[in-house]
Amino acid sequence: MSTSPLRRKSTLGVKVGHIQIGGGAPVVVQSMTNTATEDIQGSVKQVLALARSGSELVRLTVNTEEAAKAIPEIREKLHQQGCKVPLVGDFHFNGHKLLAKYPACAEALSKYRINPGNVGRGSKRDPQFAQMIEMACRYNKPVRIGVNWGSLDQAVLARLLDENARLPNPKDLDEVMREAVITSALESAAKAQELGLAADKIVISCKMSGVQELIAVYQALAKRCNYALHLGLTEAGIGTKGIVASTAALAVLLQQGIGDTIRISLTPEPGASRTKEVVVAQEILQTMGIRSFTPMVISCPGCGRTTSDYFQRLAQQIQDFLREKMPQWRESYPGVEEMHVAVMGCVVNGPGESKNANIGISLPGTGERPVAPVYEDGQKTVTLKGDRIAEEFQAIVENYVASHYGQAKSA
Ligand code: SF4
Repeated sequence: MSTSPLRRKSTLGVKVGHIQIGGGAPVVVQSMTNTATEDIQGSVKQVLALARSGSELVRLTVNTEEAAKAIPEIREKLHQQGCKVPLVGDFHFNGHKLLAKYPACAEALSKYRINPGNVGRGSKRDPQFAQMIEMACRYNKPVRIGVNWGSLDQAVLARLLDENARLPNPKDLDEVMREAVITSALESAAKAQELGLAADKIVISCKMSGVQELIAVYQALAKRCNYALHLGLTEAGIGTKGIVASTAALAVLLQQGIGDTIRISLTPEPGASRTKEVVVAQEILQTMGIRSFTPMVISCPGCGRTTSDYFQRLAQQIQDFLREKMPQWRESYPGVEEMHVAVMGCVVNGPGESKNANIGISLPGTGERPVAPVYEDGQKTVTLKGDRIAEEFQAIVENYVASHYGQAKSA
């Protein structure tokens, strides 16, 4: 297996609106809203924020008749604002009914997520699953067979436990659980194909909440099928724990070429923006050298040579500035996402890192002259001083972008 993070395992390409998942396409970043879908205004606002921050697909829960009715309106309002991001409907328990009763919803969505553990119990499971697949075929939509170990199909688990108990050397429970998650996904995908859904309309996910379990499941899944794979650690958690756990799990798999689309399932911190999950997904891909989204800020940790927090504030300010500018720069200055900006705390490593970046600033550390040399393409171009270093450096970065990237470069 390749260890280059840039080379993906070969999977079938699935078209979701204008976005392709798998089949050699760049790894797609997706996210999910946490507004009530019935709240049309709130949902439109959040989808717009997620899309503007770089989410290439946005999933919404479709759990009630009101939510199903809201979907076409949300789609229309997004179009009116120039937002084409494909919307994915997240269905559990009643998806077969909602898709049948609300054709405009079925049409407006670009993909349906079906959880095989939540399509129906007992004798209802197969016909209700079949109804959802028939809808996907009728409206020519792809489907994600999204297994989640927290809602694992109990019939599959019971069957595998019985089979395991009859083995001369039964496997341990964790292993049987992992196998049940994979079996549920692959058997459901095979069933969907029997019902007429093409293999290149199927994305698979098997989400686990443990890092090692997720890695083991996806490594096995990648060996056993060539469906496009949606990757994510479920119930990752809040704050740094959620970010670290997701990164630890996804980095291992992405490095092995596994995963065609990712979602980071963070619990938002109170008051924090939902777009954080998009930023984390992008940063994982970008720091691994898989895709670039936003100019990268290189900043040192600071030490006893940086006695004020001025340097930290400048690094944060520049990072925020670059991210805010990206929706506009993405259109006007293609290639700017590859730019590196150094914000360094003192003369020890400041000039070196700044020269290696496209553009960099070396702030004065303790005891240094209160001046900040700026480097562009390895050359010192100006030395800033006084109270307006931050504003002046921001303006220099903006001019650099305008003169080095996209249309402005070729003008
Ligand atoms: S560059 Fe200077 S301020 Fe930054 S960590 Fe190194 S020695 Fe400290």
